Order: sequence, then structure tokens, then C-alpha cells
Amino acid sequence: MNIATLAKDKDPMGAAIHDYFTKGRAGKLQVFSSQFDEDEIPVKTLFRSMSDMPLLEQKALQLATGKILDVGGGSGCHTLALQEMGKDACAIDISPLSVEAMKARGVKDARLANLFAPTFTETFDTVLMLMNGSGIIGKLSNMPQFFIKMKQLLNPGGAIFLDSSDLKYLFEDEDGSFLIDLAGDYYGEIDFQMKYKHVEGDTFDWLYIDFQTLSLYAAEYGFEAEQIEEGEHYNYLAKLTLKA
Ligand code: SAH
Repeated sequence: MNIATLAKDKDPMGAAIHDYFTKGRAGKLQVFSSQFDEDEIPVKTLFRSMSDMPLLEQKALQLATGKILDVGGGSGCHTLALQEMGKDACAIDISPLSVEAMKARGVKDARLANLFAPTFTETFDTVLMLMNGSGIIGKLSNMPQFFIKMKQLLNPGGAIFLDSSDLKYLFEDEDGSFLIDLAGDYYGEIDFQMKYKHVEGDTFDWLYIDFQTLSLYAAEYGFEAEQIEEGEHYNYLAKLTLKA
């Protein structure tokens, strides 16, 4: 599992966020994967305000209480919305250019840090992982490390809110049945690489997880999973609470 932060010349999303913030517009943020066709992230969506956010995200922000950690803050959209609601939030990101942009946009506590770094120790009441936030876990095999880290970071009674899509729709046949190779790797394990202008990032793992699989792992590590809200496209918001 990677515990580092990114070098500025390997930070394409940060470069796009930085451009959009300083110039009011940005070029193409391209996304490549060995499993999918080339795609693009509209940089503007990374700057969404509360009213532009999907309901799932709005719900997570409403339910967040106490000292809040926004993991992978990006442009700071969620932390800024939390600050406007009068809540106490800290954003971390491995992208140095995103952290610079967050600070310049008024995020009071934005830090360059990797969630999994042993040096990142502090406690919170709510941990937010939004915009397919399960992705940051990377692979199913990282679940033990993820939950161990969460146990260290969460205050008693604390909770994690994370959203994900269940990628099973990609394997749906015309008759509605699902063709999933159960002997292969878990179908939500995706590799991505991003590019913005001349800045190319390294390939990274991103985990999409279905609610049932998430619940099974959560239970194994002493957490209770609850599906708070269902989205419009096989996506959902989950709340994971550490069992007393
Ligand atoms: N939450 C933001 C950004 C989502 S993109 C939004 O909804 O708009 C995911 C972000 O997570 C990126 O900015 C990426 O740099 C950051 N990230 C990825 N792995 C991370 C890790 N291990 N620790 C902290 N941040 C991470």
C-alpha cells in the first residue's frame, strides 16, 4: 500500500484543479485504465457547491458531526461546504497542488498527507470519503489496513461515511443476468492513470465496492455497515460505525 504523497510533476489532477482555480477554466483531465476506454473528468465538477452535489454527498455532509476528516479533499468542495455549515473539518490530500488550491480557497485546515501514512495520527468523530471514496482503499486486500487505520483515527462513537458504485452493471447481460467471473479478481478493482496537459501521473489502484462485500469486511473488523442512501446508478452512501 502506498503511503507517500505525490511529486508536483506527477500530480495531474492537482494541476487541473490549480489551473481551474487560478484561471477559471482548465484543459482536459484525461483518465486511462487497462479495463476501460479512455475517459475524462470535467474539472468543473471538482468545484461543485453544496447545491450541485449529488444527494448522497449532501446527506453525508448533513450527517457529519464533531471533528470531521475529509479524506482526499481535492479542490476542497466538501470541506468548504462543511465550514459554511459551521462545522469543524480538516481536509487531507496526497496532491500538493490540490492542497495549495484548498488553502487559497479558504479551507482553514488543509494538509498534505496520505491517509495511510503512520505519521498521520489524530482523532476524529467523522471520516468522510466521497466521490467513490472507497477508491482510496485501492484493493480488497487493503481492507485490514484500512479498518486498522480507521480504528486509530476514530473517537468512540465515531463513524465513516463513504460512497461507491457497484460496478456490476458493467457486467449485466441484455437479459438482466450478471456475468461475473467469481474465480478472478474482485470486479471492482480498477487501475487508473491520469493525464493533464503534459503532466502524467503514475498508475494507481482504485476500489469500487458493492455494499454487501463492504458489510462483510466491516463486520470482520468490528464495524457495522448501514446503507444510508441509494443513488441513481448502482451507487450508495454507507455509514460504518465502530461497534462498542
Ligand atoms: N473528494 C473530492 C476529490 C475526489 S478525487 C471530490 O469529491 O471532489 C480523490 C482525491 O483523493 C484526489 O484528490 C487524490 O489526490 C486523493 N487521494 C488519493 N489517495 C489518497 C490517500 N491515500 N490519502 C489522501 N488523499 C488521497
